[in-house]
Amino acid sequence: MAKLGRELRGKGIDVIDLSLGEPDFDTPQHIKDAAIKAINDNWSHYTPVAGYLELREAVCFKLKRDNNLDYKPENIVVSTGAKQSLANTIFALVDDDDEVIIPTPYWVTYSELVKMARGKVVEIRTHADACFKVTPEQVEAAITSRTKLFMFSSPCNPSGAVYSKEELSALADVFRRYPEVFILSDEIYEYINFVGRHESIAQFDDLKDRIILVNGLSKGFAMTGWRVGYIAAHTEVAKACEKLQGQFTSGPNSIAQRAGIAALTTDLKPTFEMVKEFTSRRKRVLELAKQIPGLQCFEPGGAFYIFPDMSFYYGKTDGNITIRNASDLCMYLLNTAHVSSVMGDAFGEPDCVRFSFANSMQNIERGWERILGALKKLS
Ligand code: PLP
Repeated sequence: MAKLGRELRGKGIDVIDLSLGEPDFDTPQHIKDAAIKAINDNWSHYTPVAGYLELREAVCFKLKRDNNLDYKPENIVVSTGAKQSLANTIFALVDDDDEVIIPTPYWVTYSELVKMARGKVVEIRTHADACFKVTPEQVEAAITSRTKLFMFSSPCNPSGAVYSKEELSALADVFRRYPEVFILSDEIYEYINFVGRHESIAQFDDLKDRIILVNGLSKGFAMTGWRVGYIAAHTEVAKACEKLQGQFTSGPNSIAQRAGIAALTTDLKPTFEMVKEFTSRRKRVLELAKQIPGLQCFEPGGAFYIFPDMSFYYGKTDGNITIRNASDLCMYLLNTAHVSSVMGDAFGEPDCVRFSFANSMQNIERGWERILGALKKLS
């Protein structure tokens, strides 16, 4: 889709990008200033593999301030983006044929990393009418003697589902019965939350040794290109991740780490301002999507996507093209409406399409007007 979108743009066509997976905001000035200072102060040498101690202390500070979680620097490994944190964790924990339970829809990297580690992906289907959340019963039914890991994101990319404390507590009750199972909690969208306080499953102290909390600076601080992510985990897991990282990449970029210290320890005002803007866009997108017949749209509690089921359009045609599945629909919207989106099969939900609202209000309005026009032509 991205390649096709670029090709159309290359032909001079005005393609509106609703496939974006990153904030369309600039990194806050005080964070950029910290990076500029780091360059001038010559932070130019190799960094410790797990990240500067000051940054790991800053992560601990943040986890206490925002999540009331107690971690020490030896529990923290900073990586080149949360993607590397996920990769380190999966390669450290998953052996051949180990099962990894992943509720759908999920970020595509999850299943690919598990396969690369020669693990087996065990999907649990969730549904819009269950708010795209997994139930304790579903999790318990999926656990076997080969289960190594359960992994999920809250807020979820792509559904926007956000788990409440009560829902996490009910899942924690299941995990208490299976002490061999690790839990990877991806909280990268923590701040992009429209429904209240972020809750982490790591708050359940008796499970904390088995929980790998993944987070990073990409989404909450508009720092996707800086590549800073981290885990908070038991020291044994942290040590294993550090060992792997030491061979793959060494410690993350020095300047990005110094900027990361500023991001995590100073004012969150720019983050909250960004979230305020996402809140208005979410409201508008939901209004616009409601005007479209047959589009079943779950209201996201977090992240910056809507993920509607588009199966209403299957079998419909504009006289030229017949829509057989959501992938056809994405291609139709790209070629007819010049709007790019992401096919749901990349997230384990083939009937859905992900539309981002990490684009200006003007582009969102223009994009959805075009989508409405293109879908009206289908009968
Ligand atoms: N986890 C989820 C759910 C994501 O959507 C992403 C990025 O899109 C990441 C992790 C990776 O973040 P990073 O940019 O820090 O590698």
